[in-house]
Amino acid sequence: MTKTNTTTRTARTRTASCACGGLKLTLAGEPTSVYACACQECQRATGSAFAYRAKYPKTAIMDVTGERRSWRRGSDAGRWIEQTFCPTCGTLLFMEAEVIPNDIVVSVGCFTDSDFAPPAALFWSGRRHGWYQLADGIATP
Ligand SMILES: [Zn+2]
Ligand SMILES: [Zn+2]
Repeated sequence: MTKTNTTTRTARTRTASCACGGLKLTLAGEPTSVYACACQECQRATGSAFAYRAKYPKTAIMDVTGERRSWRRGSDAGRWIEQTFCPTCGTLLFMEAEVIPNDIVVSVGCFTDSDFAPPAALFWSGRRHGWYQLADGIATP
């Protein structure tokens, strides 16, 4: 047992898909962070009470297929945030931001994996809808 080549370890891959299946993003390995955000922009963008997102390095992208469209908005700090969605079904699949040029942020719901890691934090918790309680261990910075 002298082989110590760690590159033979196979990274897990996951595919995020939009609702109609036209746009797909496949990633290798585990996300570097998982978070939720209850800000008003995220509520509008997702059509839900909060966004639930996983950040991956762009080097984890194995494949992205299908038609897509993007739109940009400014953040509070005046930097751009770009959201990419399927033009057929409108699902918001991933996001990029000027402040994290080497990362891609994926909508966790698009993995349809109920065992996916929980968010480490809920941002803008002051905007949280009153009906849901956070599980223990989720920070509210
Ligand atoms: Zn679609
Ligand atoms: Zn937000």
